[in-house]
Amino acid sequence: MRRILLLGGVSEALAIARRLGTEHVYSLAGVGRVPQDLACQVRVGGYGGAEGLVAYLRDEGIGLLIDATHPYAAQISRNAATAAALAGVACWALRRPAWQAQAGDDWREVDDWAGLIEALKPFRRPLFTLGREPLQHLQEIPPAQFWTLRALEACAGNARCEVIGARGPFLLEDERALFARRQIDVLISKNSGSQATEPKLEVARELGLPVLILRRPQLPAVTREFFTVDEMLEALTGLR
Ligand code: NAP
Repeated sequence: MRRILLLGGVSEALAIARRLGTEHVYSLAGVGRVPQDLACQVRVGGYGGAEGLVAYLRDEGIGLLIDATHPYAAQISRNAATAAALAGVACWALRRPAWQAQAGDDWREVDDWAGLIEALKPFRRPLFTLGREPLQHLQEIPPAQFWTLRALEACAGNARCEVIGARGPFLLEDERALFARRQIDVLISKNSGSQATEPKLEVARELGLPVLILRRPQLPAVTREFFTVDEMLEALTGLR
């Protein structure tokens, strides 16, 4: 069987990594937890761009590159497609389907941080669930706003922002309590498509609150796309 390099960092990637044998490699950026109980090899850290990844594919005799990274991790996805093409290996990708708005939902897509700040103007108590990017803008919070920012790790906020550290999956009742306690009037999110973080959307729906959604990045064309872990595992069983 061809040697596989699996680029991960999300739960679906870990589920695939758990099925890989000892000759294959599971690759992590190094920002989250590193599993210690896998049969396959685990590699932590970047490659130094697409060129570095090409060198790794060649040096390690990789025959199939799998991109199972987060839908907003666009840089590594672009690098993966470019490097695989240059090294002459197939690139498969697991593309997590996006959440879809339901009837009555008030979802407002924004392109970038500037668009988000503009769309946020009418609100006073936003809940940010975008990761750590808002931390770079704590000095820019308007006097009329108080931000609640949820990230993987807690850290210091300031007089107008509290940072909560929490990891999904999140329960509906806990999300309801969070919105009520913080008097949230708008939710800010990526469209990650993950079931683990979906309950916050249900709460916004129940309360009739708007959701500002950072638009998904464009991802590159690859040799084969899959939309579920099971589809990909099935294809891997037939791999030579
Ligand atoms: P990114 O902007 O697309 O990638 C930045 C750089 O990190 C890449 O150029 C690469 O460095 C390195 N990198 C990323 N994923 C890697 C992997 N699986 N193995 C080795 N190196 C990797 O990615 P990001 O948005 O910062 O996300 C970093 C990681 O966290 C990703 O693996 C992603 O799956 C995971 N994650 C991201 C999010 C999110 O919202 N973005 C959420 C949950 C999990 P080099 O150029 O040096 O190779």
